[in-house]
Amino acid sequence: MHIDLNPKLDFRDVLIRPKRSVLSSRFEANIKRSFRFRHSSRAWTGFPLIASNMDTIGTLEMAKAFRPFGALVALHKFHQPDRLAEYLAGDEDPNVFVTVGTGSADWDRLAAVKAKVKVPMLNIDVANGYTEAFVRAVAKLRDENTDAIIMAGTVVTAEMTEALVIAGADIVRVGIGSGSVCTTRDLTGVGYPQLSAVIECADAAHGLKGHVCSDGGCVVPGDLAKAYGGGADFVMLGGMLAGHDECGGELKYAEPDGKTPTSMVFYGMSSETAMNKYHGGVADYRAAEGKTVEVPYRGDVRATVEKIAGGLRSAMTYIGAENLKEIPKRTTFILVNAQRNTVFDR
Ligand code: 5GP
Repeated sequence: MHIDLNPKLDFRDVLIRPKRSVLSSRFEANIKRSFRFRHSSRAWTGFPLIASNMDTIGTLEMAKAFRPFGALVALHKFHQPDRLAEYLAGDEDPNVFVTVGTGSADWDRLAAVKAKVKVPMLNIDVANGYTEAFVRAVAKLRDENTDAIIMAGTVVTAEMTEALVIAGADIVRVGIGSGSVCTTRDLTGVGYPQLSAVIECADAAHGLKGHVCSDGGCVVPGDLAKAYGGGADFVMLGGMLAGHDECGGELKYAEPDGKTPTSMVFYGMSSETAMNKYHGGVADYRAAEGKTVEVPYRGDVRATVEKIAGGLRSAMTYIGAENLKEIPKRTTFILVNAQRNTVFDR
């Protein structure tokens, strides 16, 4: 047994200290960034925000709405190959990751898409990125897709980040137990405070010319500034994007008219709801590690993305960062007493 006595931090444990700045307006803050990757020779430029591959969030409608922002969507893995191929074929520079797990059905689906169209970005997604089998799957995906941008996760520590980068990941997804509808920490006692996970994994990945995506735990726009400040290259969102027209969740209507949407169902991909939907129930040997909630209905997602982008630009103005890459250099976190959180509601 070992106890790590170094403090580990979540987003809500810190604030970013303002700094003198030459930026006179938030319009001068550039939230698009250009990337070159360790394995793929493809370059990518855009707003490094990724909608999560949860089935209510990673939809083609979300991808269409994100396109004008230059942001990305990790499409959920239950899309039919034809629908995926059609979307990919309709865009020269598609803003989507095609998601696979480690099961053969997912790889067959990917093969069916690849038979029709190029797949430039792949996301290999498992709840626990710590197994040997997962590392082998990442290596196999890289062998079979030498030029794709591959994102893999999730993990929360430096040594496993390095293992995934070496195995073939361009971007490592960081976060275990931090998701808004995740119950892993309660059920298993396993997890890692998200900001510290990002700081430690980013340091490990960057040393190998890899990148990281902070996945889970953002509840307000300021959390994205903190994630980028901690070294995240990309930030993935689930709950902050839930409840919109572009989502796949069931809408609930106000009584008595029954026509005005008031809320939407949102659930974890390891929840009982998701397992009933895709796996015919929760298997005997496991328990659900996600929950089902209703979130307020929030209309068009574009207004939410604009608010997120606005918050980020404003944060950059406060610390004098002209572009995203400068944020960590201009960031000093100060420890605070686990402050707020107000519910994010635009
Ligand atoms: P959020 O932005 O809502 O805080 O976090 C989204 C992330 O939570 C997802 O991208 C995914 O990594 C994680 N997640 C989604 N569903 C579940 C679940 O059922 N269980 C767990 N442990 N994590 C989940």
